[in-house]
Amino acid sequence: MKGRVVVLKEYGKPFEIEEYDVPDPEPGAVILRMTQAGICGSDLHTWRGDQINNPLPPGGRLMGHEGTGVVERLGEGVSTDTLGVAIEEGDRVVYSAVFPCYHCHLCLKGDTNWCVNRGGAGAGTWPYFRGTYADFLYLPPRHPLFKVPDELPDEILGPVNCAMGTVTTGLMRAGAREGHNVVIQGAGGLGLHATAMAKDMGADRVIVLDRLENRLELAEEFGADYTINIEEFNTVETRVARVKELTNGRGADTVMELVGRAELLAEGIDMLSNGGTFVEIGDIVRGREVSIDPSKLLPGKNIVGSLMYRPDLLPTLLNFLVRNQNKLPFDRIVSHKFPLADINEAFPQAEWDQRQTAVTRAMLVP
Ligand SMILES: [Zn+2]
Ligand SMILES: [Zn+2]
Repeated sequence: MKGRVVVLKEYGKPFEIEEYDVPDPEPGAVILRMTQAGICGSDLHTWRGDQINNPLPPGGRLMGHEGTGVVERLGEGVSTDTLGVAIEEGDRVVYSAVFPCYHCHLCLKGDTNWCVNRGGAGAGTWPYFRGTYADFLYLPPRHPLFKVPDELPDEILGPVNCAMGTVTTGLMRAGAREGHNVVIQGAGGLGLHATAMAKDMGADRVIVLDRLENRLELAEEFGADYTINIEEFNTVETRVARVKELTNGRGADTVMELVGRAELLAEGIDMLSNGGTFVEIGDIVRGREVSIDPSKLLPGKNIVGSLMYRPDLLPTLLNFLVRNQNKLPFDRIVSHKFPLADINEAFPQAEWDQRQTAVTRAMLVP
């Protein structure tokens, strides 16, 4: 049996689709048949060439990390998911999108999402299927995976193992809790999940900023108390003043950067109340700089970075979806679906940099 994988051979060039034999799973391994794979902001950065200083592995980079699938084959000895729930071929599972080394000092502490040996998967080497833009995905022995509760529809599962896990971890790192005011910079897939999760964690006011009105309207449906269109509030000063006004002069307890623009750090620090925390998530591209005034940090303001999540978060997220799926329009986050073969049409349509797009989250479907 063969399957397709999407490979980036060269920055700035269209993706190529290659075919490989699907390997036999090692004992303990699991092969998934992908059912959907999200186009995440970080994939757009890669495609756009923003990471040109980050050399591609030999053979090109296998693309895609967000997604979900069904069990195609279980390796010898695998009969349950990570929590001991029986699984068999055809079952829907959500798996950790972090593939750590389990041998570094951070993995040893359980901080597998900060593993020093994480790297982009190269194409053409065994087991071939290590990106989600593919027909199959190879999960090595002991890789965390969780059976999906029957009541959850397929349409809402795609973003769980990237967008949703990442923003939830960011909120946890900021100590988000009852009564907090949370500002969310960017209302794409990350921002919409962050809005829902911040409210679920007890936020008093969630304020969402974006340029696209369709995204801001959706943010309101996910529980945003206020939205700020940055075309209308088109200077840093007016945006900071608006956040202060909407928080009775206090400022935000948490500001989350989910866009990927360095200058939003400086802006976000000004939006914080004393003691508040700025969470950097979106700025994954190396080499961008912003100047800040460190004296502004003295009254207890924090800056924390956040990257992906620990795998034990995933069952919590599935429970969150079960609890909220009939209250919030999770099925509308994925606005567009494209066949995997049309990936070179999907990316230009999903692009939001310097342009308007109707896409909130695009999914590739094998
Ligand atoms: Zn992602
Ligand atoms: Zn490691």
